[in-house]
Amino acid sequence: MKKILFILLLIGAAVFYFSSVNSLDTEIVQVDQPDTAPEQQKDPIDPAIALEQSLKTYTIEEGDTFATAVETFGIGYGDMLNIVSSSQYIYDFTSVRLGRDLRYRKKGEDVTHLEYDIDNDDKIVVKKTAAGYTAKKEPIPYTYKEAYGEGTILASLFVDGNKAGLSDALILDMAEILGWSIDFATAVQEGDSFKVAYKKRFRNGEEASHGEVYALAFTNMSKTHTATLFPDTEGNRRYYDPDGNSMVRQFLKAPLRYSRITSGFAYGRFHPVIGKNVPHLAIDYAAPRGTPILATADGSVTMSRYNGGFGNFIDIKHNGIYATQYAHLSAYAKGIRPGVRVAQGDVIGYVGSTGWSTGPHLHYQIKKYGQLVNPLTIELPAGDPVTEEERSEFERLKQDYTKKLK
Ligand SMILES: [Zn+2]
Repeated sequence: MKKILFILLLIGAAVFYFSSVNSLDTEIVQVDQPDTAPEQQKDPIDPAIALEQSLKTYTIEEGDTFATAVETFGIGYGDMLNIVSSSQYIYDFTSVRLGRDLRYRKKGEDVTHLEYDIDNDDKIVVKKTAAGYTAKKEPIPYTYKEAYGEGTILASLFVDGNKAGLSDALILDMAEILGWSIDFATAVQEGDSFKVAYKKRFRNGEEASHGEVYALAFTNMSKTHTATLFPDTEGNRRYYDPDGNSMVRQFLKAPLRYSRITSGFAYGRFHPVIGKNVPHLAIDYAAPRGTPILATADGSVTMSRYNGGFGNFIDIKHNGIYATQYAHLSAYAKGIRPGVRVAQGDVIGYVGSTGWSTGPHLHYQIKKYGQLVNPLTIELPAGDPVTEEERSEFERLKQDYTKKLK
């Protein structure tokens, strides 16, 4: 089934109308068909796009509730409640937003089809059947055009990226794709350069939110880092270096080998030591005093000292995006001090109860761009390399993609 999905995906990619846009030049020009897609057609009619275009649109206005909005095109109160309840596990219609569209179709007086964009990728589609309302999530149908941008850093990644026609969102994607190889916060220098091949996406003929990078080369301090997109057999769209290694080095699931979670990530929790409700944007792992604590990913130690309520505390910077922090330690491992490089799985310290703590445990937190995020739910893509079965397909796509980095 997964193989079939993958093949469908390739066929889908092949029938897209491919053209190329030089981002330094706003004119869109058609180029030779890529040799990977000999059977593509010029103007495919995607039924999902045709369907969307056949719908009527109501734009949610100031003061509208979902009930008053749908009432304008003939959905009464009872039907509205049924729609809300049949959709509740996919989208909460009571939180529709001002300025967004509700799209619908009527058969006589009956609204038989209603849809709304959940985000930039998916929409909820509600249909009225003899059995009542059914709701499901569907991908938004976009069309894609190939695009290319390149530049040299003279001012900053954003300034020079924008000059090359790249949107801020696309620049952030580039920084995230190579975030394990290059520290974009501090190490990007004048004279660094980039080449990026990506797809712009369009909806109803208008450029929509940014598309997807599929090949990227960034030269930082004379070293070139290259990444290509490869959809694996499970449908994950991940980036790999030319040898087929993941661009992402996975975090360990937990910083302790044996432990149990005693307190999860919460925005309000009663703190037994300070006697107040405070957010706990971290995970507490109960473990005996002295249990070794592991660095969850490669990085460098930026702090290892007593730090107020955190007690003995270690901060590890992994790249320009992620940092992890470890609190209440009884002791630091030998050699752990600011500036020291640690590898994933290295012992950095030992569980204790220093600072504001009622018993031995490890308080572990992850920061992404300086903000605390939930370590248990944050999407940290797996770092596995391309598998042997996927290897030939990877080599084929990689060659095709890197050719586009002129
Ligand atoms: Zn804690």
